[in-house]
Amino acid sequence: MAAPGNPGIAACARCVPVRDTAIDDIVALARREAPDLVVVGPELPLALGLADRLREAGVAVFGPGAAAARIESSKAFAKGLMARHGIPTAGFRTFTDPSDARAYCRELGTPVVVKADGLAAGKGALVCADIDEADRAVSLCLEQRAFGDAGQVVVIEEFMEGEEASFFVLSDGEAVLPLAPAQDHKTVFDGDRGPNTGGMGAYSPAPVLPPAMQARVMAEIVRPTIGAMAHEGVRYQGALYVGLMITPKGPRVVEFNCRFGDPECQVILPRLDQDLLPLLHAAATGGGLPDTVPWRSESSVCVVMASGGYPGEYRTGLPISGVDEANRLVGVTVFHAGTAVVNGHLVTAGGRVLGVQAVGASILEASARAYDGVERIEFAGHHYRGDIARRASVLR
Ligand code: AMP
Repeated sequence: MAAPGNPGIAACARCVPVRDTAIDDIVALARREAPDLVVVGPELPLALGLADRLREAGVAVFGPGAAAARIESSKAFAKGLMARHGIPTAGFRTFTDPSDARAYCRELGTPVVVKADGLAAGKGALVCADIDEADRAVSLCLEQRAFGDAGQVVVIEEFMEGEEASFFVLSDGEAVLPLAPAQDHKTVFDGDRGPNTGGMGAYSPAPVLPPAMQARVMAEIVRPTIGAMAHEGVRYQGALYVGLMITPKGPRVVEFNCRFGDPECQVILPRLDQDLLPLLHAAATGGGLPDTVPWRSESSVCVVMASGGYPGEYRTGLPISGVDEANRLVGVTVFHAGTAVVNGHLVTAGGRVLGVQAVGASILEASARAYDGVERIEFAGHHYRGDIARRASVLR
């Protein structure tokens, strides 16, 4: 059962029309259905305390409580946690006053990164090349309130040079299971240009994170973070995403998410060579999470097809064709993000519409298959990046 689900998951789950932020309704639904496990997917219900409420109702739940979800829902909290516990990340300060914020941008020098404190669907980090851009970013957050309440506090931090990578773990609050690493593509245009998005594509494995670097990330970042939360009285149960910058001085945290995120999840999980459910259940109930799990040797690539105009304004309700045809291609799976069914027809319903994922013997083969899938699919004005996974061959 999925609440509210979408046309993609409707193929394998009963969808109930309950919004993911309608906390009381979801708790009532869980009491009625008595599920063995609830997996809370998105960040907003986690930040609103859905996992706490379900646990109080005696339901096993995969996903952190509101206090632990602050690692994503407040960048100021996450940065403070890292500073208190010596977890490597970019130098930073937080501000509510625009002139103080502007002065700190000048102190740090450019490039500099201005971030809305709260949840902004991946779009709240503004990487500013020069001081004019930084001033505009500060104004956008603190004066124009472009991110609403999420931007009433800004975090300003040093720009880190390096390769980005995505690292996920499952935790029951003590035991930590690392998953296979991935690399994603956050900016909207080819060549890592343009504004940040929720993610335009991803691939796994990620050559930037070989086993020795994964071990460093576990020892220097992940275990200290789960331990820091526990030390501060917060049990972290669920998936933790660590956005990393692999700098010349070692791995540094760019940000945390308190959940699986797409498109990385869509490239990582198809490579898992065992059932996922017992792992989620172990993290939820606090027992039996293994140290390692087996992975398939295949590579996996996902290309996101977005609405014209995204991450800015875009239209919805546009008919989509070709999804079944793409799904029939060898190794290809089409994941739905912003879709809906209206009068029996699949239409667009969000900025990022579909994730076209493929497995293959190599990154090259997986990528060719994913783009073959993309070419079968049509909706007016769509756009996608043409260079997903190309960095894998550069980094190898
Ligand atoms: P975030 O929402 O914090 O993950 O930031 C989105 C993207 O902005 C990241 O994936 C990076 O590409 C970039 N970014 C954020 N913070 C920094 C930083 N301190 N240095 C360099 N790039 C950054």
